Amino acid sequence: MRPDILNPLFAETESLKGVGSALLKPLKKRQLTRLKDLLFYLPSGQMRRVKSDHINAKDVGATVILTLTAKEYRHPSGRGPFRILAEDPFGGQIQLLWFGNHSSWARKLMPIGETRLVSGKLDIYQEQLQIVHPSEIVPLSEENSIPLEETLYPLSDGLTHRRIGQLVRQAWEKSPDLPEWIEPSLLKKHQWPSWREAVERIHQHPDDRAAKLRIGYDEIFANQLALKLIRAANRRKRGFPLKGDGHLRDALNLPFQPTGAQRRSLAEIEGDMQQASPMLRLLQGDVGSGKTWVALHSLLIAAEAGYQGALLAPTEILARQHFETLSQQLAGLPVNIALLTGRDKGKLRESTLMGLADGSIHLLVGTHAIFQEKVNYKNLGLAIIDEQHRFGVAQRMMLAEKAIHTPHLLVMTATPIPRSLMLTAHGEMDVSRLDEMPPGRQPVETRVISSRKIPEIIASLGRHIAEGGQSYWVCPAVGEADIEEDFSPNAIAAAEQRFSLLQQHFGKKVGLVHGKMKPAEKDKVMDDFAAGKIAVLVATTVIEVGVNVPNATLMIIDQAERFGLAQLHQLRGRVGRGGGRSICLLLRSEELTSVARERLALIRECNDGFRLAEEDLRLRGSGEILGTKQSGESHFQIASPEDLSELLPIANDDARLLVDRDGGLSGERGQAARIALYLFERDAGVSFLRSG
Ligand code: ADP
Ligand code: MG
Repeated sequence: MRPDILNPLFAETESLKGVGSALLKPLKKRQLTRLKDLLFYLPSGQMRRVKSDHINAKDVGATVILTLTAKEYRHPSGRGPFRILAEDPFGGQIQLLWFGNHSSWARKLMPIGETRLVSGKLDIYQEQLQIVHPSEIVPLSEENSIPLEETLYPLSDGLTHRRIGQLVRQAWEKSPDLPEWIEPSLLKKHQWPSWREAVERIHQHPDDRAAKLRIGYDEIFANQLALKLIRAANRRKRGFPLKGDGHLRDALNLPFQPTGAQRRSLAEIEGDMQQASPMLRLLQGDVGSGKTWVALHSLLIAAEAGYQGALLAPTEILARQHFETLSQQLAGLPVNIALLTGRDKGKLRESTLMGLADGSIHLLVGTHAIFQEKVNYKNLGLAIIDEQHRFGVAQRMMLAEKAIHTPHLLVMTATPIPRSLMLTAHGEMDVSRLDEMPPGRQPVETRVISSRKIPEIIASLGRHIAEGGQSYWVCPAVGEADIEEDFSPNAIAAAEQRFSLLQQHFGKKVGLVHGKMKPAEKDKVMDDFAAGKIAVLVATTVIEVGVNVPNATLMIIDQAERFGLAQLHQLRGRVGRGGGRSICLLLRSEELTSVARERLALIRECNDGFRLAEEDLRLRGSGEILGTKQSGESHFQIASPEDLSELLPIANDDARLLVDRDGGLSGERGQAARIALYLFERDAGVSFLRSG
């Protein structure tokens, strides 16, 4: 339950004075639906007005307030702007300009012969001083209505800086003093104001560093605290200590030796699984680093100990692929493995459910379906989540909550997370890293090519498949709003278009797969591709994670600039899986921003996922690295990446200390910290508080 003291901050924006239906829409668009949203809506800057008694060319570029008298209207016959010729008290001349249909309104504001205060940005054009669209025109008596300083906000249609400023002010006046959750010595050291004062200051003086850091700190602290609470709750849980005797692992007959990193990670996992409190561990390993080997061995530890293991994949395709790989590798072993996806119905599903309940199925592979209420395990000892980067933090918290009560949990991700973000993204987990590639991998050769060259590319694609090669051709989602890229109509349209173009050249050798297809159709196409019946697979990002077809050595990515670096790296990882040389062609559009250019150059030069992630962070900011685009959830709203590197170590230590000292958050500071959790909507953490 949210503490009562926060109620005013969670009140609807609608309750503020002057918010009618016209304002609601743009406010909603900016997600300013509650008072706290307004308070945390950070200004983009500040405008200072220069008051001057006469027009002065040295003020060009500044926002001025001038006393002007209208002399003459000029209304061109064509499409030109409406102009008012005006004079200052000393006879200095200026033009005021309005584009569009604003002349009658402008005439009303400035009748000929009358004197007004006019404010706007002073410009010069063809040696004429001018103000385009003055923001203020008021009678001399209303001088005070034009503020000398004005806070600026990111706007959308229907909002003005001043309107937002007024709403923020109202929200602030209604906001309570909150008990202090920051350690007093820390406040003193940084000279940070109280929460309420910080909020006020940041809106009055957007460059007030101490105020900004204070609130940024609050946000990070709440996040870290929630993660520490989950971690502490996990430590208190009683799980099953699982000790395998190795008989199943020894019976495996794999065609390769594990890398040192694979052995080390498995040893860490094995150590965790022997503990009474459940494992909560992240296995981080670049594409192709061999996470499946680690998963298989971990699952076998559970089976050796007489427990069941489950592997959760993000998509149907991946679940099936894992199932097939693992089934092959387990052939001849006394281990029963089954597949369960949302698509399985009827008798087969029934018998799988029975096998899970009576323990005759030892290992289960599947999609989300495997953690539904109706699925009962006899004794689930280990749950593995693969390619976790499709889950947001909130989703993971829920999964963790479910899983914490029972099995050991291993999360595997190929998304290389920069070290600086590891703690905020995965602070509740221990981490193992596969920082070594299996031997003999050749890096994928990456080239950036203009999409004007598509005819030539199709020609060389023709040679590639004539030699028995296979290739992917990936099309992006179009437009920012396509969160579920695989299902975006635009992405599908783009893929379908490419598909029919390539079909004209290669006929039946071309296949198409995207998220909107029926699962059975998708599987058929993927199977045909894996079996070599299809040579060119046109796809949306549905193939991004995990799909493994070693004979495919050519990856073509359409409009590569539309993908994130991490995503491009993932896609590139689909090739280079066999012994031979692999190539990745990044098709770029004609006009590129300099950042886009830099990003494509980076991916061309660099094969190291971790470095790419660090650079992507530098170029684009933290949100996209953390997969927030996919989950639609923003990680930090206030703290910028730079603030983060400064504040995170402090906030993290502080949160840990607090949880160590007062794990129930029941002391005075603990109670205050609870408020911070709710205020920053990290209250998932509250459900993990130690009771009593
Ligand atoms: P990812 O980490 O991307 O899930 P996979 O587990 O799919 O990687 O492994 C990629 C490929 O490398 C697979 O074909 C797998 O059999 C192979 N592989 C894994 N470990 C090794 C190893 N130690 N030596 C050689 N090949 C390996
Ligand atoms: Mg994998």
